[in-house]
Amino acid sequence: MKLTEQQIKIIEAKLKAHKIKCPICNETKYSLSDRVFQLEDYQQAGQANYSLDYGTLVFPSPLKALFPVVTVICGECGHLEFFSALSLGVVKSETKRYGWE
Ligand SMILES: [Zn+2]
Repeated sequence: MKLTEQQIKIIEAKLKAHKIKCPICNETKYSLSDRVFQLEDYQQAGQANYSLDYGTLVFPSPLKALFPVVTVICGECGHLEFFSALSLGVVKSETKRYGWE
């Protein structure tokens, strides 16, 4: 999901309040991705939330848990930091709608 300019400004304001420093190289310059990414709930093939197709392709179930994140990239070493898009307020939780709690 691409972030709007307004969402990017909100995120930047929240991140500036915490004075981010890279845990790898101590750099304080960083860039913010203009998209929300998602971390997926890992499950082995054959478990209830996956289906198999011909034993080679695995498709996730629509009930698979996803975690939306905003990515900050270190300006020196490229280290990535993830921040919860839910906590930053750019994505609304849909867990109740799908009963995932
Ligand atoms: Zn770094």
